[in-house]
Amino acid sequence: RIVYVNGSYVPESEAKISVFDRGFLFADGVYEVTAVLSGKLVDFAGHMKRLRRSLSELALPSPGSDEMILAIHRELLSRNGIEEGLVYMQISRGAADRDFAFPPENTEPSLVLFTQAKTLRETPASKTGITVATVPDQRWRRCDIKTVQLLYPSMAKMDAKSRGADDAWMVDGDGFVTEGTSNNAYIVKQDGTVVTRHLSNDILHGITRATVVGLAEQEGRAMEIRPFSVAEAREADEAFVTSASSFVMPVVSIDGTKIGSGSPGPFARRLRERYIAHAEETAL
Ligand code: PLP
Repeated sequence: RIVYVNGSYVPESEAKISVFDRGFLFADGVYEVTAVLSGKLVDFAGHMKRLRRSLSELALPSPGSDEMILAIHRELLSRNGIEEGLVYMQISRGAADRDFAFPPENTEPSLVLFTQAKTLRETPASKTGITVATVPDQRWRRCDIKTVQLLYPSMAKMDAKSRGADDAWMVDGDGFVTEGTSNNAYIVKQDGTVVTRHLSNDILHGITRATVVGLAEQEGRAMEIRPFSVAEAREADEAFVTSASSFVMPVVSIDGTKIGSGSPGPFARRLRERYIAHAEETAL
């Protein structure tokens, strides 16, 4: 695999980053993951917009223009022959002598990109749905920034897996679901209303979420943009999650309780089809 590191395209075995990189020592960095369908990037503009916001919230320097970053994405897709999969991009504050305070000016940000060939459309999980287990949300309070500080979600997913579930749904101190470890969470009530948490510092502002909320509205669905509790999710007709890598993924049980029929719901399945069609049409 050819990866991109600070200006060079190199085989992954030759890619190097300093041990003093603040991304490595302090998780001082941000990232984006963009889906690739038919060799094209899904919602690249949305990912760039969120990246700019993450950079500015952490006073991280920009690694370059949107055009330059798009060109690197495309070059990597072509060098690695990727038709379907993901592009991962990370920007960290770069190398500096280890100190909590970072030098205000003299670090060069590190820019790293790599591709992952991956089936996204026809996955087994999209047919069966996934199961989730709840865990307390113990992340820091700026979950709106897409930082590489992913230890808690990683531990949460391992915890869910040890309890036989595919992923974790994180729950705030009041018993309301915030989001999945790497996706936004939704339920469909018995009257067909779709419920998903409002945007705040408690969740990542999903690029897929923005598109999916629009598509659900186009479908004529009533939407309630508010937190839902674990109890409400147990009683729901359907549930699903969204992310760049899973699109729309049905959720069929929570903490061992079946949601609705216990198989992927009709609305989640239709929304998945609609989302993929929209992503294909608008990819660049
Ligand atoms: N929430 C979290 C915590 C995530 O890590 C992600 C994506 O990785 C999402 C939500 C979904 O965001 P997007 O649709 O932009 O991939």
